[in-house]
Amino acid sequence: MFNGFEQARQFIQAHSVRMIDLTFSDLWGRWHHVSIPASQFNEQLMRDGVGFDGSSVGLKSVKSGDMVLIPDLATGHMDPFWEAPTLSFICSAYEADTKAPFPVDPRNIAIRAEAYLKETGIADQSIWGPEYEFYVFDKVSYENGVNTASYRVDSREADWHSGEGGHGHFIPLHGGYHAMAPKDQLYNLRAEMCMELEQMGVEVKYHHHEVGGPGQCEIETPLFPLLKAGDATQIVKYVVKMVAHRRNQTATFMPKPLYGEAGSGMHFHQMLMKGGKNLFYDENGYGKMSQEALWYIGGILAHGPALLALTNPSTNSYRRLVPGFEAPISAFFSLGNRSAAIRVPKYADQPETARFEFRPPDATCNVYLALAAQLLAGIDGIQKKLDPTALGFGPIDQNIFGWTEEQRRRIKSLPTSLMEACEALEGDMDFLLAGGAFDRLQLEDYLRHLRAQEAAVRNRPHPYEMALYFEA
Ligand code: GLN
Ligand code: MG
Ligand code: MG
Ligand code: MG
Repeated sequence: MFNGFEQARQFIQAHSVRMIDLTFSDLWGRWHHVSIPASQFNEQLMRDGVGFDGSSVGLKSVKSGDMVLIPDLATGHMDPFWEAPTLSFICSAYEADTKAPFPVDPRNIAIRAEAYLKETGIADQSIWGPEYEFYVFDKVSYENGVNTASYRVDSREADWHSGEGGHGHFIPLHGGYHAMAPKDQLYNLRAEMCMELEQMGVEVKYHHHEVGGPGQCEIETPLFPLLKAGDATQIVKYVVKMVAHRRNQTATFMPKPLYGEAGSGMHFHQMLMKGGKNLFYDENGYGKMSQEALWYIGGILAHGPALLALTNPSTNSYRRLVPGFEAPISAFFSLGNRSAAIRVPKYADQPETARFEFRPPDATCNVYLALAAQLLAGIDGIQKKLDPTALGFGPIDQNIFGWTEEQRRRIKSLPTSLMEACEALEGDMDFLLAGGAFDRLQLEDYLRHLRAQEAAVRNRPHPYEMALYFEA
């Protein structure tokens, strides 16, 4: 929002800003914040930053130096959720002494991956459109660590039949896509979210009820350059949760909160720009995809298993990636096919719009790491000319959910557990180190953390085991 310090200072004065909020992401993509009175906002702050302890947020460095947060002026936006007029900035971490970007800060990793793209000469810029799916619940309670989330609206068929709280308009199973009111009870909530987003500098393409529900929603923004897409994602997640909170409800981006209902994904649309042109467009290509786009797709699918440790880094991620819910389970690409890991949208067939979406990711990812990792996989694909068809990744233009087991066995699968994804990343890390984007020691540390989480879930008796085994 601001080009320089002076512009920010004038804004603070003109809008009687009282607090400056500085946000930054931990290694897992969660935002943290530290707040300072607006009277402290001066050029020294911009130069010296605010010290913080990176080791508490997963940002340990090989050479553990002191870290400071320095606000990125371009990200300035009013935060509407506080009583004190608050101007918020997204920060990157820097070395306290040299003021060099702190290497393991996720936002810095994203910046370096994008810089590497330019260095290779392949393209000038990458452009991204993450899609945001989430559930809204009336209340969530945790009993014995069990999520007993109740549905957002009282219109499920069961309630209707039992005569409890039904107004008669229920969303049938898997029938919530673009549901109309009165079935869609969440229009006001989503509209409020989108209006806040626009105020905060994040444009919105549209919003709608999603398949699952009642209670699953989606918001989409236009496509943005990589860093802006990462920052916008952090703002969207914050606003969605805060607006729900304001209305005494709870929003969650967790990939599979409800068994038997659609999960929530975060598909990433992507394209590369060179000399002002979309490098992914070729009038005569499959789905209007250029040779570069196909190689890039080859890179994403070849590194797919390792990539999932960064785009789907939770045990819950793999409860979503199961057949029957429009979530991908196989590593292939396709025109318009929603069972594919990579879908080339049929409507995106113009020189300006040609692109594909990578569908496995979900919002448990650290968006900066997910963006960087996908880009690096794609770059590797272009550099090595990885032809996705020669590698056995399709295209397949049928719905594989209608195929027999035998037919399905012939296509490559994606990891089915966090454990498998971790093993894949352990054996396939080099593409992430290109351009000094990721750091090997950090990735090893990251994997240790994921594995500890995986064990903590695996070792806990599951509530459903009570039904299965209690009578043993
Ligand atoms: N919710 C689905 C998923 O888990 C996507 C559904 C859709 O956008 N068509 O990826
Ligand atoms: Mg969508
Ligand atoms: Mg969707
Ligand atoms: Mg999509």
